[in-house]
Amino acid sequence: MEHTKGKWKIDGLSIYVADHFSRRLWIATVCVGMPSEDESEANARLISAAPDLLEACKAISKMPCLLKLLGEPEENCTCASCIAKAAIKKAER
Ligand SMILES: [Zn+2]
Repeated sequence: MEHTKGKWKIDGLSIYVADHFSRRLWIATVCVGMPSEDESEANARLISAAPDLLEACKAISKMPCLLKLLGEPEENCTCASCIAKAAIKKAER
């Protein structure tokens, strides 16, 4: 299953996508003030950026693994490409 397509937007602590008729399709609402109002707002911003971050990770994951370029095993590699691949796996499994 893939995530909801479209530009994820914020209204307060809620994240939504607007459909072709400008109707809001709600994605998530962050808990209010848990643990603080500022942190809740930061969490909402991070969630709303998730599709953009996923696309960035997909672009970065196309870069070659640095260890693989050196002929080393990729296991436990922390290059940008491998970190991006791990994030994609977490998001899309
Ligand atoms: Zn790597």
